[in-house]
Amino acid sequence: HKSKEDVAKLFAEKLGTDPKLTPEELTLVARDKLREKYVEAEVGITGANFIISDIGAVAITENEGYARLSCAWPKTHIVIVGIEKVIPSVTDVGLFWPLLSTFGTGQKITAYNSIVGGPKQTNETDGPEEMVVILLDNNRTTILANPKQRESLYCIRCGACLNACPVYKNIGGHAYGTTYSGPIGSVITPHLQGMEEYKHLSFASSLCGNCTEVCAVKINLHELLLENRNEAVQSGYISFGEKFAWKIWKRASLNRSMMNMSNGNIKNRIANNIFKGWKKHRGELHFSKKTFNEMWKERFKG
Ligand code: SF4
Repeated sequence: HKSKEDVAKLFAEKLGTDPKLTPEELTLVARDKLREKYVEAEVGITGANFIISDIGAVAITENEGYARLSCAWPKTHIVIVGIEKVIPSVTDVGLFWPLLSTFGTGQKITAYNSIVGGPKQTNETDGPEEMVVILLDNNRTTILANPKQRESLYCIRCGACLNACPVYKNIGGHAYGTTYSGPIGSVITPHLQGMEEYKHLSFASSLCGNCTEVCAVKINLHELLLENRNEAVQSGYISFGEKFAWKIWKRASLNRSMMNMSNGNIKNRIANNIFKGWKKHRGELHFSKKTFNEMWKERFKG
């Protein structure tokens, strides 16, 4: 994302405008320059928020107006949309549009809402001469076939889970390096783009459950993150070193005499030498000087 100063600088470089323009002035420049582009463009490409099955149309919702310009002015309108966006009837839009806007931005309804059912007809003045709808699968059918993960396809991309997620709030969307970020991105990306390469997203969560709490369509997001972890382990995508470390940890945690063995300083030295990689981006591991067992005995010795 760019700051308003970055945008003003970019406009100054590319369009020769004053680098000190305010956001309102920048908006007017963008409107002025981009309108021409829309009028001249041969092809307009948009996504769609819903595919309406009973009338054979797509529903597009936005606050800026660029999608409406993209489908109204160019000669050809291309829609690229995931197959999970199908809803049964045009009457369902009355539920889904307000649901999307209230959970997404807190608006009762988004500023621009369009239903596009095909190219311009002979008695119509606006619209493209041709309309093409590309239905994207990209492994969505694999998610559909997975009984535990299929509920993630209910997502309407409102973004509420992103705004509620403490991880997303700290690192932002770009850090995920994926098309879909935040909790829902961490759930679906390993299935869309490969568990081996993207399993780490499901592990980068404290499983606080904020995402599940706010989800507009009640997807059990934090449970699905756990499911992904399970799938990654079952598929053998965990390194030998990690498996070994957890085995030792489990054995030690279940064995009181091992837990009580040696003091905190020695444990710190051993753990921080073994897990050197841990310290690259984090502070050192710190064991308590006394074990829980020792503290318990001290407190209740009387
Ligand atoms: S998972 Fe739920 S909260 Fe997150 S974007 Fe999708 S519908 Fe919205």
